[in-house]
Amino acid sequence: MCGIVGYIGDKKACPILINGLLRLEYRGYDSSGIATIEGNLLSCLKDKGRVKNLYDLKGIDDLVGTVGIAHTRWATHGKPSKENSHPHLDNSNHFAVVHNGIIENYHELREFLQKEGVSFLSQTDTEVIPNLIHYYYQKDNHTDELKFLRAVNRACQDLKGSFAIEVICQDYPDSMIVVRKDSPLVIGHGNGENYISSDIPAILSFTKDFYLLNDYEFAVLTRDCVDFYDIHLNKIKKDIKNIEWDAASAEKDGFEDFMLKEIFEQPKSVRETIGSRLTKEDCNFDDLSFSKDYLNSIRHIYIVACGTAMHAGLATKPIFEKFCHIPVTVDIASEFRYRNPIIDEHTLCLYISQSGETADTIAALKLAKSKGARTLAISNVIGSSITREADYSIYTHAGPEIAVASTKAYTSQVVLLSILAIYFAEVLGKQNEELNCLKNDILELAEKVEKTLKNISDIKAFAKKVYKETDMFFLGRGSDYTVALEGSLKLKEISYIHSEAYASGELKHGPIALIENDVTVISILTDPKLVEKSISNIQEVITRGAKTLVITNQALDDKKFDSMITIPNTNPLISPILSVIPLQLLAYYISKEKGLDVDKPRNLAKSVTVE
Ligand code: GLU
Repeated sequence: MCGIVGYIGDKKACPILINGLLRLEYRGYDSSGIATIEGNLLSCLKDKGRVKNLYDLKGIDDLVGTVGIAHTRWATHGKPSKENSHPHLDNSNHFAVVHNGIIENYHELREFLQKEGVSFLSQTDTEVIPNLIHYYYQKDNHTDELKFLRAVNRACQDLKGSFAIEVICQDYPDSMIVVRKDSPLVIGHGNGENYISSDIPAILSFTKDFYLLNDYEFAVLTRDCVDFYDIHLNKIKKDIKNIEWDAASAEKDGFEDFMLKEIFEQPKSVRETIGSRLTKEDCNFDDLSFSKDYLNSIRHIYIVACGTAMHAGLATKPIFEKFCHIPVTVDIASEFRYRNPIIDEHTLCLYISQSGETADTIAALKLAKSKGARTLAISNVIGSSITREADYSIYTHAGPEIAVASTKAYTSQVVLLSILAIYFAEVLGKQNEELNCLKNDILELAEKVEKTLKNISDIKAFAKKVYKETDMFFLGRGSDYTVALEGSLKLKEISYIHSEAYASGELKHGPIALIENDVTVISILTDPKLVEKSISNIQEVITRGAKTLVITNQALDDKKFDSMITIPNTNPLISPILSVIPLQLLAYYISKEKGLDVDKPRNLAKSVTVE
């Protein structure tokens, strides 16, 4: 879940590494550190706290090496502390390692190494890695140029779990080795210099040329080249991938926070997600070629994801069911992977992950594949791990999302899944007037998102009124219920206010007992068929003294509620794309009123690459 950065070139590594870490801080930020090599001297500085603290570390200016590795940690084993921060060194101080992931068999390896005389300075799982590398290095009697690589390779074969690691060795001051398994890592290629990062945006201002590593591929970096090896240490060839993202699009663009910037990017991201896939006449995916026979053979679709991405699945389930007539189950990836779901070749499994690195979602995908289902990944990151595991992949093209709380990725996922459902329906020959209407409604969405974003003063005012509360409730029916879930999650994530989302009809079956004077209840009402029923439920909470905010596209009497936000009207099937926006903004402004760090909420990280 952490961020790792590496540099080898002719410039001083330290400022480049800190710059990269600052951009990766959303991945984890409880401690950070750097190791560099100058001549044959390996130096390491690290501490608890935010990356910017590195600037104040005694000795940081003395790290003059042009080869270095760096880490911002999201602790899994051992509390955030100086000792547990990365890089970790072996006992002889020959090797420095940074690691993202979890070494599941570290107990066993630690015991083995302790018997060999190694002493451990931290509680981390990571510290076994440099010591294991040193153990194999020592046992190797050769002195050729591959000795360093052989030791890293041999050590990795003993590791169980997930890892993306960078290693430097003071005997090889002009090289660096990286390898990954189930954790993200990319290599940026420059002129006489090479970079490492957990993801592309962090080093996009330095290069647009990237190599993507697969599991158990080893890369040996020098200033001028990168050599790749498989697990058997056979040399392999890799092509450079040119990434067109503009470095500026990974910056804040004048907004106070990434989250606000990303909320306001939604007209653009929705447009880009639609791209050329949907026009009035046509619905097509360049990367997909499902036959009518195959889709006819599908008895069940699973949509599997975590958090916000799972809510995107819930929002679009009705579209698949309505137009493709295939039952859909939306499942939480961490549950799906352990509950032996009924899957065979007549099952199609869709996996949603913004980063494409979500550990539970990837594991759930591997499970379905092993049971014979076809798998389709939906991600925002080209070449991410999930897209390399899946049979098919489609991309949201929402642009880099930096804020931990997902906003534009969610709306793009809902748009993309809606278009996918239309594509399936058309391949199945189920075109009809309603489907054509939905197509037109999707094509009008970007403009309506723009309009929705114009109306923020009432949301700000409501945020001011309620930011001191400790509990809130979100209600909705149908698609509005799925948005209630997402609105509630957003609020929890960045404002730390406890909230619950309920299907309005469930209220009477328990939760209404919690409604008392001045409790805030936020209701979403966008489906004309369900509005009356929902209003009755709101009436029930008003009677019990609740403060009410209503988000609606209907012409309702606003005097009935404490506050009402009107959004543009659209097809109820895709209304989540509009109705979620006021809720994103509400969570944002409440968090700001409370003076919290919107982009880096406590205990959370952007891409959850551990279980
Ligand atoms: N498991 C390692 C630790 O706790 C790495 C965690 C991370 O990915 O930041 O130090």
